[in-house]
Amino acid sequence: MHFTQRTRAGLLVLALVLVVALTSFAQEPAVEDRYDQIFDATQDPGRLTARFLKLTTRSDDKSGDSTILTSPDGKVMIIDAGNPSTYLDVDQALKALGVTRIDYLVASHPHVDHIGSFAQLIRNYEVGVVYTSELVYPTSHYKNYMLAIEETNTPHVILMDGDSFMFGDSVLVEVLHPLPGIEYYEGYPSSSTQFINNHSVVLKFTFNESTFLFSGDLYTDGERSVVERHGERLRADILKVPHHGDSTSSSKRFREAVQAKVGVMMHDAIADLKVYQKYRREGTQVFVSSIDGSVLVSTTGDGEYQVISQYDRTTSFLD
Ligand SMILES: [Zn+2]
Repeated sequence: MHFTQRTRAGLLVLALVLVVALTSFAQEPAVEDRYDQIFDATQDPGRLTARFLKLTTRSDDKSGDSTILTSPDGKVMIIDAGNPSTYLDVDQALKALGVTRIDYLVASHPHVDHIGSFAQLIRNYEVGVVYTSELVYPTSHYKNYMLAIEETNTPHVILMDGDSFMFGDSVLVEVLHPLPGIEYYEGYPSSSTQFINNHSVVLKFTFNESTFLFSGDLYTDGERSVVERHGERLRADILKVPHHGDSTSSSKRFREAVQAKVGVMMHDAIADLKVYQKYRREGTQVFVSSIDGSVLVSTTGDGEYQVISQYDRTTSFLD
């Protein structure tokens, strides 16, 4: 092949561009992954710790929610556990933490992105008690985990507004929703998504000066009901943002009642940028599992929190 002077010059420029591009690519700092730090349990004694998991779906279902909590005296609670394919993530996290017994397994509501991994957890771990609402939802996933409860003789306790229990010796858990006596409508469970989400179990955790609120997939109707009944009791520093941060939820009255310092949205993407921005404008530090990875929030009960996200933000479009 014969190159003209011009072609040679062109090739030289191209080569230089490639070298510069490759060098700058090589110098790009690798995104730090703090998974090992987040799932290291050595700092847990004496602290209430919530680990909001980044779940990865390996099916067509959305991945869902899962949070692992540990009490200052070492009790373990899991609130929700993703779709069935995310069992791998929950199991990996529990193994990293050295957990073999789940004292409390809590279902906020019986949708597959919240209870999908329950049957596997119940069969593979020692589970102290399963807490659910009284809502019955006849799907295969629901029946699967009910069967697992039955076959393993795991205690199953129904939670409703007005109940409370201790998580270990020093953390009070109050149940703020749903009300007792769920009234099913004619034709249930057809078109029941909203009905089921609005009957999510809402839990408030209080450890001395520190507070956490878990709101399941509550929509604005459910939020209104909870705010009307509980008002200031909803105030919480740390919030599991309702319904993955979607615009079906997080009404103004709800946000104002909670006044969260930190909000966590567990989602495969960002459900609604406007909802995210509303929280940000009101001073809530918001984490999104799809971007920030898993998130650890931990406190000694003094109202101060250690917050660690798995990844640093490499994007500025959320600022
Ligand atoms: Zn959900």
